[in-house]
Amino acid sequence: MILPVVKFGTPVLRERGAKIESITPEIKKLITDMFETMEENHGVGLAAQQVGVAKQLTVIDVREVKDRPSWVEIGGKPVDVAEIMPLVLINPEVTPVGEAVKGSEGCLSFPEIYAEISRPESVDVSALDAKGKPITFRCGGLLARAVQHETDHLNGLLFIDRMEKKVKLELQPELDALQAETKAALKKK
Ligand code: ZN
Repeated sequence: MILPVVKFGTPVLRERGAKIESITPEIKKLITDMFETMEENHGVGLAAQQVGVAKQLTVIDVREVKDRPSWVEIGGKPVDVAEIMPLVLINPEVTPVGEAVKGSEGCLSFPEIYAEISRPESVDVSALDAKGKPITFRCGGLLARAVQHETDHLNGLLFIDRMEKKVKLELQPELDALQAETKAALKKK
């Protein structure tokens, strides 16, 4: 089922997600719905907050992006990125490894707003997969960026919080307009 993606100005986007204690049928259904929703919107990643659920759950799939490379290592050995796709991360913990690099980011909760964001080039990730099994890997490139962007969502952080002041200032009128539109729509409900 395709779920509505909440936009900037919706309070749940600022909530820290609760830890998931067990993979219930509701969580399984949520994972399926989040993948369908992400595909429908041509996203690379989607966090539970973006479909109105404050839980430590995100889905990621970078396979459609051909022009921005990703890499993955498991136990120090390179593996094919496709091997861990599509990726479900439950209760993820992310540790920065590489130097900060700039790259373009968008967000399904901020339609048509893009900005260069500086983030570590690579990260170590440990999480539970869709079956509740622990997984650990190191990744870099676009996948590392997606993992960090989505993990931020799980902690109530948004990419606008990572923007340079000057960049955010330039986007401020668009951000204000989006927020006002969201708040007006929420009031009508
Ligand atoms: Zn986002």
